[in-house]
Amino acid sequence: MKVLIATDKPFAKVAVDGIRKEIEAAGFELALLEKYTEKAQLLDAVKDANAIIIRSDIIDAEVLDAAKELKIVVRAGAGYDNVDLEAATAHQVCVMNTPGQNANAVAELALGMMVYAVRNFYNGTSGTELMGKKLGIHAYGNVGRNVARIARGFGMEIYAYDAFCPKEVMESEGVIVCDSADELYKACDVVSLHIPATAETKNSINYALLNGMPKGGLLVNTARKEVINEAEVLKLMADRPDFKYVTDIMPAAHAEFAEKFAGRYFATPKKMGAQTAEANINAGIAAAKQIVGFLKDGCEKFRVNK
Ligand code: NAD
Repeated sequence: MKVLIATDKPFAKVAVDGIRKEIEAAGFELALLEKYTEKAQLLDAVKDANAIIIRSDIIDAEVLDAAKELKIVVRAGAGYDNVDLEAATAHQVCVMNTPGQNANAVAELALGMMVYAVRNFYNGTSGTELMGKKLGIHAYGNVGRNVARIARGFGMEIYAYDAFCPKEVMESEGVIVCDSADELYKACDVVSLHIPATAETKNSINYALLNGMPKGGLLVNTARKEVINEAEVLKLMADRPDFKYVTDIMPAAHAEFAEKFAGRYFATPKKMGAQTAEANINAGIAAAKQIVGFLKDGCEKFRVNK
């Protein structure tokens, strides 16, 4: 069995070494395609692969057509909107992600961005503190849960809204549960966004929702840019000079945000949430283990195209 790592942004060497160990211990062969610049290189590399480990790499119908021997694709990370799930199902290819492996890394970044924003982007002026403020966690999944854990240490009051997580689970972890996103945004000084990009959530963070936030509202986005209705957030920030927006996913209209709202807006130059040595290693090795479990024992625990 041949397992291909196909990453235009490579894993750290220590992660590749860890993946190799898992794959070779199972008696499989590991191939590596890193820093590829042309899709043709990917199409060529997948030809005889039985399994592929990717990061943000695009797996579409053309790649799946070229990968005649493919059985499984694992996205080392949480978001899998870079894989065409319908096409994968049609090609009888199992798609998995590695949930939770980078959650702490993203959560630490979210808290770091919060501090940065309330301290006026370290511009030398007096800011505010997080202690005693109400933090709204929009989606209580792997990242949201870690944000709650860390924010509690800051002395924040934790609220959450999740469309699917049972209320009792959130309550048992000391969270004040809201019944809608609207209720969450109205209640909280800071909202940290952790929803996936789905048909339902795309463009859902809009003027009406954010305008419900109290004076001095802060939105922290470490989720996906697609969930933001950029035109409406631009309008909201124009209408609300008190509102701040910080994001780990640079908006399409970044230049306009940066020019109009200097001092109230910040975007990381590249998505940095999962960019830690630990997350890299955890997600890569989890992907390798999931491939071995699937190919040897048919384990489909983290399958996302059921
Ligand atoms: P997760 O799957 O563990 O959690 C997602 C949560 O969203 C689940 O609890 C689910 O019930 C909830 N949810 C789904 N649809 C919802 C809706 N319409 N309304 C409210 N809640 C809803 O995912 P995660 O690992 O916590 O990741 C969260 C987000 O962070 C994803 O968008 C992911 O793509 C993004 N992410 C970003 C980075 C980064 O580098 N910035 C890294 C990893 C993940």
